[in-house]
Amino acid sequence: MERNEDMLFTVKQELLNPVQVPSPAAFPLSKIDTWRTPPLNPSYPYSLDLQRSLSGKQLLLTQTPYPLSLIHEHYLNGYISYQKALTQKENRYKCNRCGSDSPFYFASFPCSRCHQECYYCRACIVMGKVSECTPFINWEGPTSNVLPKSSVMNWKGMLSKAQERASNELIQAIKKYEELLIWAVCGAGKTEILFKGIEAALNSGKKVCIATPRTDVVIELKPRIQSAFPDMSVLAMYGGSEDRFHESSLIISTTHQLLHYYQAFDVLIIDEVDAFPYSTEPMLHYAVAKAAKHAASKIYLTATPNESLKKDVEQGKKQVVKIPARYHRMLIPVPRFEWCGNWKKKMKTDTLPANVEKWLKKRINEGKQCFIFVPQIKWIAPITDMIRKLTEKVDGVHAEDSQRKEKVMKFREGQLVILVTTTILERGVTVPNIDVAVLGAEETIFTESALVQISGRVGRSAQFPTGDVVFFHYGQSLSMRKAKEHIEYMNALAYKEGLIDR
Ligand SMILES: [Zn+2]
Ligand SMILES: [Zn+2]
Repeated sequence: MERNEDMLFTVKQELLNPVQVPSPAAFPLSKIDTWRTPPLNPSYPYSLDLQRSLSGKQLLLTQTPYPLSLIHEHYLNGYISYQKALTQKENRYKCNRCGSDSPFYFASFPCSRCHQECYYCRACIVMGKVSECTPFINWEGPTSNVLPKSSVMNWKGMLSKAQERASNELIQAIKKYEELLIWAVCGAGKTEILFKGIEAALNSGKKVCIATPRTDVVIELKPRIQSAFPDMSVLAMYGGSEDRFHESSLIISTTHQLLHYYQAFDVLIIDEVDAFPYSTEPMLHYAVAKAAKHAASKIYLTATPNESLKKDVEQGKKQVVKIPARYHRMLIPVPRFEWCGNWKKKMKTDTLPANVEKWLKKRINEGKQCFIFVPQIKWIAPITDMIRKLTEKVDGVHAEDSQRKEKVMKFREGQLVILVTTTILERGVTVPNIDVAVLGAEETIFTESALVQISGRVGRSAQFPTGDVVFFHYGQSLSMRKAKEHIEYMNALAYKEGLIDR
């Protein structure tokens, strides 16, 4: 039997049988109503490789490196089940991988596998095509035994008082399989907060996943988590990652990759819950729900919870722990507002608003690095060119820029003084001792959360805990005021709780 080909099944005595040649008795799985998976045959010498790469997952045949014959033998012995990828109810399809059920997401194509018009899901197509004739392969056998080790953690750092409190809450939430929102200001040191919770989970034999929206973060986090848990093999899951056929009790994954999991995790930590694409794509919420076991602890991490998270907290659906102060016990710089007139009109004459130019010149003279955020990509090139008249040490970067990593690296190494950017750098990038300006802060792209994140770039390191954050604007927006209030609120709370050194 060849892999990838036999996607039609016949049913004999309620058992599925994949067939090679199309026949009137063979159907795609979506058209077969009932079948059964044989009971587990305890004396069957099941494949440990298969167990390792399929446990807790829901994969397509094409995503496994094993021949169909081996997989089917495991089905006949009860160790694997076939599941419909698409189900159809009254002419409406539902994708069982991403949960999409709007007709908008389903299209058909003449399928060479099932030899008919075959519907597929467009919503999750980047993860491999899921169509009517695609079966999911689910592992039904025992999960591999991950033996709890004592004291697996090797992180010797100290937690601040606020981190300690959050860390304790996390341990409790994990013990009780509860949901917890960790609302930690930018620079609070949120990764360190997780270590003891993860250790407690691993020691009680639980499986842990840290999910984050961006691949960059997965790659960045892996060595940090690995060095804290040297006995574990920490896996990083993202599109094209080498780790995907392995198994571990400690996984870092993009939220997209969670779509491949099925009731896999006892502890699911979702980083940056408010960030794109997690915040805007319902299928990623479906992925989280599907990847977690029925009894699981879900931990949400963010510096800027959105309204629906705040509502959940108010209604008592989620517990919350706030970390209002940075680990270095200094206040978060509060943004200043500076009116800069009709800056777009000025741009047409190739000039920067006078106060913006003055602000930049001061930094150039002092060699103090800064980011300048602009609302759209189209402003990057003209503004970079204008600044280039003042200094050579400037460049512009945006999401689709193929040189993005190199430019950020040049900035980190100090070869650039000014980096003109869109909101792409609002998160994640941490550079000590920088100032930040937003040009056109009134534009709608600069939401409260974006502005809080942007402000959060400044004063992160203990060595340089202060800096200037300025919103250059042509009329204050509500988001600007809310962002400022947000930071002032957290600072006030930090004071009150004795988390700030005066
Ligand atoms: Zn087909
Ligand atoms: Zn789908």
